[in-house]
Order: sequence, then C-alpha cells, then structure tokens
Amino acid sequence: MLGQMMRMPLTIHSLIAHGARYHGDTEIVSIETDGTTRRSNWRTVSERSRQLSSALGRMGIVRGDRCATIAWNNARHLECYFGISCGGMVCHTINPRLFPEQLIYIINHAEDRVVFFDKTFLPIIAKLREHLKSVEAFVLLSGRDEEAAAQVPGLLFYEDFIATGDVDADWGEVSENDASSLCYTSGTTGNPKGVLYSHRSTVLHSLAAALPDTLNISAREVIMPVVPMFHVNAWGVPYAAAMVGAKLVLPGPGLDGESLARLIDAEGVTMALGVPTIWQGLLAALKKRGSKAETLKRTIVGGSACPPSMIAEFRDKYGTEVVHAWGMTETSPLGTANALLERHGKLSEAEQAKIRESQGRPPYGVELKIVDDEGNRLPEDGVAQGNLRIRGHWVVADYFGFEAGETLEEDGWFETGDVASINAEGFMTIRDRSKDIIKSGGEWISTVELEGIAVGHPGVADAAAIAARHEKWDERPILLAVKAPGADVTEEELIAYYADKVAKWQIPDKVIFVDQLPRNATGKVLKNKLREEYGGVLTGA
Ligand code: ADP
Repeated sequence: MLGQMMRMPLTIHSLIAHGARYHGDTEIVSIETDGTTRRSNWRTVSERSRQLSSALGRMGIVRGDRCATIAWNNARHLECYFGISCGGMVCHTINPRLFPEQLIYIINHAEDRVVFFDKTFLPIIAKLREHLKSVEAFVLLSGRDEEAAAQVPGLLFYEDFIATGDVDADWGEVSENDASSLCYTSGTTGNPKGVLYSHRSTVLHSLAAALPDTLNISAREVIMPVVPMFHVNAWGVPYAAAMVGAKLVLPGPGLDGESLARLIDAEGVTMALGVPTIWQGLLAALKKRGSKAETLKRTIVGGSACPPSMIAEFRDKYGTEVVHAWGMTETSPLGTANALLERHGKLSEAEQAKIRESQGRPPYGVELKIVDDEGNRLPEDGVAQGNLRIRGHWVVADYFGFEAGETLEEDGWFETGDVASINAEGFMTIRDRSKDIIKSGGEWISTVELEGIAVGHPGVADAAAIAARHEKWDERPILLAVKAPGADVTEEELIAYYADKVAKWQIPDKVIFVDQLPRNATGKVLKNKLREEYGGVLTGA
C-alpha cells in the first residue's frame, strides 16, 4: 500500500523559494571585487536568479548544459548558484587557484558553454580563452567595464546580461534527480575528477547541515562562509542558509585576518566557516586589533585537521566554540561534525575538550566504517585504524564522465583515502591521508597528530610531518616547521616538546625549519613534494 501524502520534488527551487517568501528581507551582505559593500536580500537574490536563468535560456543554453563560475564569495556568485541550477543547468564552480593546465582540462572536460567570472580572474580568462573550445560566452560579474572589454573580445557583462531575462520567468519542471552542480577535486595526483551533485542530494545535505548537531543554523544566525564558493559549494552553506533564512555575509576577495575581523564586528557575524589556516590569520588579527569578536559564537573548522591549540584559543580568549568537521568534495562535503552527547555533560572540561578534538560523528544520512586493506570491517574501539569508507544520500556514486561502477568499492561504499579510527560512540578521528601516514618498523605514526602538537608550540606558525626513508625502520617521521614571526625556537626544543605528548618512537627524528610550506589549490600541504625534497635526509640519499 502506498502512502497518500503529497509528493513534491526535492529541488534547489524549493530552497530559494522558501528563502524569498519567508525571509525575503533578510540581508545578504556582499564584499565586491573592488572592495565596496553591496547589500542584497533573499528576495532580490531570487528575482535576479530567475532573470539569470531566463537570460541563459534566451541565449540557447538548455537543460543539462554546464555553466561555469570563477568567482569569490559574493552576491552575484550566489545568484549564479540558484539561477543556473534552477534553470535546469549545471553550476560548475571552478577553483581559480588551480594551475592553468588543470583549468583548461576541467573546463574542456565539463564542456562548459558559459563562464561567469570576477574581474580578479580577467588575466586568467584572457590567457586561457583560446584553449576553451566549448565556451560560447564569457560574462564578467559586474556592470559594463571598458578595460575588461578591451581584453576579451565579445565579453558580456552580468548586469546587461540579466537585464535580457525576465524577473517573472517560470523556472519550469526539474526532476529532483537532475544534476544541479559540478565540482572537481583538486587532483594532487592525476587529473581532477568531477563530482556531479543532484538537486535531491543538495536539499538533503542542506537539511542535515542545518541540524543542531552539525552546523546548527537558523534564521537567528549571521553566517560568514570564508570557505570559498568555488570549493565544494562553500560546504553547502548558500543552500542551507536559504533554507533557514539566515543572513549571509560574503567576504569577497579579502580573506586576510584583518578584513575578516572587521567584517565580523561590523556585521555581527555569529558563525563562520573555513579551513584552519584562515583562522590562524583571523586569530592573529583579532589579537592585534584588540577585538573580542563578541558576536562570534561558533566557527566550523574543516578541510584539514584543526589543531587542538586553535580550539583552545577560540574558546579561552573569545568564548567561541569550534566545531570540528570533516568531509570531502565527494561527500558534498558534510561527513561528520563534532558535537557532544548528553552524557558528556557530566565530564570534566578537560575530558570534554579531548572529545571535541576528533572530527566528530556522522549526521543522519551518512554512515562510516573502517576496513583493512582486504576490505574487512575493523572494530570501532577508538584504537583500531583503517581505511575510512562512507555511504549516504549525498555521497558520490560515479565520477562525472566515468563508467558506471568505476568509482565505488565492491561493497558499494566510497573509499575516502583517509585513515581513521572510530570509537564506540561513533566519534571518528582522522589519523592521516593513507598516502601520507608514516609506517615506522611496522607501526603507524599519524602526521596529523605530530603537526597538531607542533603548531601548539608558541614558536611554530605552521608544520608538516612527513615520512623520511630509514635503513632500519623503513620510514621515520621528520618535521618541516615554519617559525612564528620573531620566534627563535630550535630543533632540540621542538623535539623535547614532544616528550610528554606522544610515545617515544613517534617523536620526529629531525626538525627542518623552512620559510613556508607548499600548498595545493585548496590549501592542503603538498606532502608528495615535501617527500621528494626531504625524504632522503635520514639516509643521505
Ligand atoms: P575539503 O578540503 O573541503 O574537505 P577536499 O575534497 O578538497 O574537500 O578534501 C578532502 C580531504 O580533506 C579529506 O579526505 C581529508 O583528507 C581532508 N580533511 C577534510 N576535513 C578534515 C579534517 N577536519 N581533519 C583532517 N582532514 C580533513
């Protein structure tokens, strides 16, 4: 017997429609590429998104076509998110920090027909244009700009472009299983791979993201996604914010600590999301300004492991709760978030702080397990560590352009490439990327743990632990460290600093100070590059 309830498609239209109807006046604050502040709201975003899809339709872009964006977090980019997807097209967000060859590869692979971009990226467009055969129109996200027009023949301007569309245009029928957006992994090795999200996966992800034990967002929040909209849809915040009617503060190109600290105070930001390096900059700027970031209740930290010292600094100096979260492009990205359970209320502060260090638990909708190299399930006792696998409503099934069945493991789960442990309460701790973990004399050493400790030392600004080849133990840990400004910490001091924090055999054999660490387009340290350069320091090879 079938249930007899209404059946309405889970589409992105429903998110923006709700935002516009019930939270129409709620502000969207946008820092533009030229540094000016622009104020919009959910109603206006909805209207202009409709205009955009109608304009795209009029130029002959049809359902399923890919339209790319290369843009900062700003209001026009938000309109592209909704306008492209709700028009039935696929919003392909591109990370401008990728190498030119990778940009060319992914635009050609996606066969993008239109590229919307911010003026910052005009030089990239001018340079790559000739290699992008599928692209029929480049649209600058601004009003008319003669300087830009001179550099790209036939360039269109967003404000003129959407004026050709209809504010009342009908978005038409879209199935919840239709593709809505596309994001490529950063591809440290091999070509980037595309993850093609659907309307349904996006709506379900939004519902889960808003839950109290995940991002915990509502119409009472002022949310600042510092995580770029070109990186896994800014962790889904634009959609979830429309769903709950939260005020958004989109920081544009100014991602330095000083600009963020100013915005937090000026706009009363209550929660912000980003990677640990961004928060390092913010913490330094807050200290310098003497700001208390009074309104900032929560920061969501993910993308790489959040050092325990950062959680403590936010808590103790600013009363800001850090929610440590884990995910990846292939998981939309929300996989886990750290929230304490009712029974943890009885624990001491130190015990609670320890639990908060892990990457947390999956919300409803995703499930995790750890397995050995043969795929056998490992115990979830907080000790055993193995390959982390995930499945759920917003987890990739097939990479874009891959044969069906090539992406998942035989058991139907997605192999994350991370090594993790899971405890009896379901809290998951990332130990490492499987290719980065150090295997010393048959034992595993977590580079994530060694790095978290190193940056807890006041003299260290940044650190990466890697495996160096070793004659007796196969691999031994060494640490590459960047000194904090003005600090004169020594190798001996840092090695001694580990003494009461990890087992003796886990302490790095060597510390090498460097000026900076090489990072990829999404800010992750390029450990393969470090291993190439420093992997032989213990053997002299
Ligand atoms: P994102 O950087 O948004 O998480 P990517 O797909 O670029 O998405 O990278 C995913 C990888 O980043 C994960 O597989 C994991 O190795 C790492 N990662 C993400 N969040 C964390 C975290 N909180 N702690 C440790 N590693 C993390």
